[in-house]
Amino acid sequence: LHSEMSRLERLNIVGQMAAGIAHEIRNPMTTVRGYLQLLGEKMEFQALRTTLDLMVEELDRANSIITEFLSFVRNSPMESHYQNINDILRNLYPLLEADAYSQNKKIKYEAGETPDILLNSKEISQLILNLCRNGLEAMQAGGTLKLSTYIADQQVVFSVEDEGSGISGEASEKLGTPFFTTKENGTGLGLVTCYNIADRHKAKIDFKSSSGKTTFFVRFPVTA
Ligand code: ADP
Ligand code: MG
Repeated sequence: LHSEMSRLERLNIVGQMAAGIAHEIRNPMTTVRGYLQLLGEKMEFQALRTTLDLMVEELDRANSIITEFLSFVRNSPMESHYQNINDILRNLYPLLEADAYSQNKKIKYEAGETPDILLNSKEISQLILNLCRNGLEAMQAGGTLKLSTYIADQQVVFSVEDEGSGISGEASEKLGTPFFTTKENGTGLGLVTCYNIADRHKAKIDFKSSSGKTTFFVRFPVTA
């Protein structure tokens, strides 16, 4: 037990240092990004302008990796209170709708009657957003993303069903491993963050997938 505690303490210090460094790296990146954009605007040669746009895109990619990493290492005690997952979803829904419609995809939401449970709304919003974005990204040819909440086996369940490409057996084994991605511009940190957030809520994530359909389930314990 003694060595386990110091191992956790060490992890904590490393995590805090990494978070600090990640934060500090962002400032110079923002400066460089600004100058690159400025150069792009002034650039007369189209080919170089395209290169500069690419450089900005790559910086944005690095930045999103840092964002997801920071939310991942933030291991401060979680602040949560009793609330309804449907309230969080209703707040987030306009954003999800805009996401879907801008890609010519449809979205539906069926809110079941669920009891209030202990949630951190910021983290749960992040979790929902990550799962929904994956669902939308999987539907290359369009389709409908279906969100639902309901009660099953005395658990509050949130589910996201997409009509996408499905998850291959090989991919399903690597799912949730940091940096595993099959997307050209993916970070491979979205699901890791989801699993981490679920963990903090004592919730479980599972999924089922066949070609043309994938459903992710998040199951929260109902606390008295
Ligand atoms: P990213 O979205 O940046 O690739 P994630 O951690 O969110 O990283 O997802 C990792 C991988 O899991 C994705 O690249 C994809 O291959 C697979 N995946 C996740 N959700 C789905 C889904 N709904 N349908 C098909 N594949 C999925
Ligand atoms: Mg993702």
